[in-house]
Amino acid sequence: MYHSVADPSDDPYRITVSPDRLDEQLRRLRRQGLRGVSMRHLLDACARGEERGLVGLTFDDGYRDFVDHALPLLRHHGCTATLFVLPGRLDGDNAWDPLGPRKPLLGADGIRRAAASGVEVASHGLTHVDLTTADEETLHREVSGSRAALTALTGTEVRGFCYPYGRVDERVITAVRGAGYRYACAIAPGSLAGPYALPRVHIGQSDTAARLRLKMWTNRLRHRALDRSAVTG
Ligand SMILES: [Zn+2]
Repeated sequence: MYHSVADPSDDPYRITVSPDRLDEQLRRLRRQGLRGVSMRHLLDACARGEERGLVGLTFDDGYRDFVDHALPLLRHHGCTATLFVLPGRLDGDNAWDPLGPRKPLLGADGIRRAAASGVEVASHGLTHVDLTTADEETLHREVSGSRAALTALTGTEVRGFCYPYGRVDERVITAVRGAGYRYACAIAPGSLAGPYALPRVHIGQSDTAARLRLKMWTNRLRHRALDRSAVTG
């Protein structure tokens, strides 16, 4: 799980990795025989039992720096990704992060450019609100409205959703499934984990090669433990 790819020096929410660090992380991935792909690609491969060697890469919020910095690096390393965008804030900024520096968001042209280069464009809602505290009308507008807007913008079926702030509950999952999405990404969904609350690992500026290796390891162990507890109930 990535967000912004830019200068990380003023970054109170720790959502920014530098282009050099992303370059290093992708190179490391490739050297281990792994390839970063979109969630759509990964889930299709999982359905065929062919997910070996694939890692889902996601970029939340749809910052303009995705097209400027992340896209050339993904292409250079033969990777793709899923970009979760906010069609209610086209050409806007991250106004929902009051303490951080303003970061510009992609507009319609930038989103289309990302889609045209093989990136999966998916929904992060319309405007970045916590859906677990939203009223019914807002929930519907954010979930269904963003899917309709992105379908019109990209001309392709929008399969994925990503919960703002990673906040999700049963009511929100029901709304996302009902709106026609095929999967949704969370962060650490606990007992809600499943196709509509996929867990992700935060990757940041401090994730050097050694730390990445450790994260992969602990994540694998955690999932093995989860699988075991699912079997034993
Ligand atoms: Zn977000």
